[in-house]
Amino acid sequence: MAWFKKARKPIAAPTDKASRVPEGLMVKCPGCAQIIYNKDLTTNLNVCPKCAHHFRVSATDRLRMLFDDAWVEQDQGLVSTDPLGFTDTKPYRSRLKATMDATGLKDAVITAVGTIDGVQTMVAAMDYEFIGGSMGVVVGEKITRAIERATRSRWPVVIVCCSGGARMMEGALSLMQMAKVCGALARLGRARLPYISVLTDPTTGGVTASFAMLGDLNIAEPKALIGFAGPRVIEQTIKQTLPEGFQRSEFLLDKGMLDLIVDRREMRSVIANALRFMGATRTEPTESPAASVAASAPQL
Ligand SMILES: [Zn+2]
Repeated sequence: MAWFKKARKPIAAPTDKASRVPEGLMVKCPGCAQIIYNKDLTTNLNVCPKCAHHFRVSATDRLRMLFDDAWVEQDQGLVSTDPLGFTDTKPYRSRLKATMDATGLKDAVITAVGTIDGVQTMVAAMDYEFIGGSMGVVVGEKITRAIERATRSRWPVVIVCCSGGARMMEGALSLMQMAKVCGALARLGRARLPYISVLTDPTTGGVTASFAMLGDLNIAEPKALIGFAGPRVIEQTIKQTLPEGFQRSEFLLDKGMLDLIVDRREMRSVIANALRFMGATRTEPTESPAASVAASAPQL
């Protein structure tokens, strides 16, 4: 028998009165548990002003952070055709459609050409919101075309990785993208053009196992999850407890897997300096990227 008993019903919270705080005005930082105004977060490039926790950003925001001003997007119209007719909890085709509607993207990467501190550069930025930033046929094809275009036009390449790995709904076809992108990067290297890989939270699976680790410089954001298989899978396989901070940027830098860890607010200037160090030169503002892309772009 209970010692105390509530004789009356507890006072219920009013349900009809709307909250005085508008939705989406503030966000709680997972790093320091402080409440931050969304506006402050946006002006600080989505880095917590109190503890420097790096929030995930969309591919478009990433391009906005890196480029000086406007950019020219490449291969905008490429969409997956669901080659396997795949169905898991729901058909892949309807999953694609729902994600496209929700994100306004066609797939998990945007490739674009623009200038970074005056240096004409091809940038591919991945977006985690699109099926976990997974690499399917479209992601592989867009990145490959971007690298090939950069090789022809003699531009450096920057890829901002943010991915859960290969896209299982496209099976072996998504795995083939690893070899395809790496082949294009090898040709870029042979043409003596720089490639910088930027690893952001998270960079895992087939993306880590291919182009993410192939940069002339591999730069990561602080505390980003970077790995191939998840920690639980590894623990079960090797039957050992993993060390503290395993698969985070700082651990990987310590073990020699990365070259640099750079705060997002410094990323643009570090990349520009590195590109110049590797021989890239400022282009004249009169040269239009749109015109040169149109001349060199293959017909879709
Ligand atoms: Zn914080």
